[in-house]
Amino acid sequence: MSVVLPGETIGIIGGGQLGRMLALAAKQMGYRIKVVTDEADSPGTQVADDTLVCDLKDPSVLPEFLSNVSVVTYETENLSYEFVAAAHQFARVRPGLDLLKMSQHRLREKSGLKKMGLPVGDFAAIRHAHDLESAAERFGYQAVLKTVTGGYDGKGQWLLTDANDLPKILSETKSLFAANNASSEEAKLILEEFVTFTAEFSVIAARSTNGHIETYGPILNEHRNHILDLSVCPANFDDRLTEEAIQIARSLASQMDVVGLFCIEFFLTADNRILINEIAPRPHNSGHLTIEGHVTSQFAQQMRSICGLPLGSTQMLRPFAAMSNLLGDVWSGGQPNWAQALATRNAYVHLYGKAEARLGRKMGHLTVIGETSEEVTQSALSCREMLLVRS
Ligand code: AMP
Repeated sequence: MSVVLPGETIGIIGGGQLGRMLALAAKQMGYRIKVVTDEADSPGTQVADDTLVCDLKDPSVLPEFLSNVSVVTYETENLSYEFVAAAHQFARVRPGLDLLKMSQHRLREKSGLKKMGLPVGDFAAIRHAHDLESAAERFGYQAVLKTVTGGYDGKGQWLLTDANDLPKILSETKSLFAANNASSEEAKLILEEFVTFTAEFSVIAARSTNGHIETYGPILNEHRNHILDLSVCPANFDDRLTEEAIQIARSLASQMDVVGLFCIEFFLTADNRILINEIAPRPHNSGHLTIEGHVTSQFAQQMRSICGLPLGSTQMLRPFAAMSNLLGDVWSGGQPNWAQALATRNAYVHLYGKAEARLGRKMGHLTVIGETSEEVTQSALSCREMLLVRS
């Protein structure tokens, strides 16, 4: 399989911040970047060499997008599978279609992982009201109902904590039930047992064309309002947990014959078991700290893997790294206090070039590297606090 060499053009489907950071890493390595997106002046288009703004459901734009493109990747799973599959007929698309298809559909994802012998919490397909009633009872009314497609960052989810929650949830979701009793009709909802977790964490893995695998993490993740707030690497788990999580990532990479980079989000349960929450077939927010924290960032690694090059080292440059996300909320009191924040030593600011700072919108992130987990965590949080100090 031929190698994509510096100077050639890499196509990225999607123009968000992940596309932007991928493009920056690729350009550092001498590649040219062509972005196809449905949004002009998006984070990715601002750094691309070439941009095509169009409807990402319209495959007729593909000949124009793919001309001169040596390999294609995508920076989000929230896009039309048919569009990516059509691109795959004319160009190499990495990581492949299977991982994308699986991660776009929670039921397919959970069933697929289970079939591969990888650990997931209990779940049930919900086609009809009676499926929900019986599965909720089976899970002791401690469960989360989710739409199988489309939802992310907590959207399209209903928490069930008590049998009395059922009527309200049933009425809110009735439009998603199958029209008749045909069990062949595809389920639009999945009920997951509620996982009592003590931690959420991720492992990022890349696999090269010759089957070599490199991993990052485990990275400890804290969410606020269902959005990632803080990541710390390494998670400081004991060797058994670390090894088990990394083995799961390696197993998924090999079993699905992945060429490229992906992230697995995990729960650590109260009884010390590891369960997979979900898969992201792309660089992940929790891996942003690899830009300064590791010899090879997740973005440079993604480029190496999809271009057929050897993978880089995932060794850390300092013992610990932490990342705090900057949401639009930080701008709500006016321009953040950059001078105060940048006085934090070993802190790096990343902004994604988004013009409008809406509440909950990911605008950028801060990374701090250092000697201890406590030090980098505190610094990443206090650096963000400094942004709020209005002069
Ligand atoms: P998701 O969009 O599936 O990643 O869910 C967003 C967040 O909701 C996760 O990071 C968890 O904090 C929480 N969550 C999702 N599914 C479950 C579950 N089955 N049990 C407990 N918490 C969950």
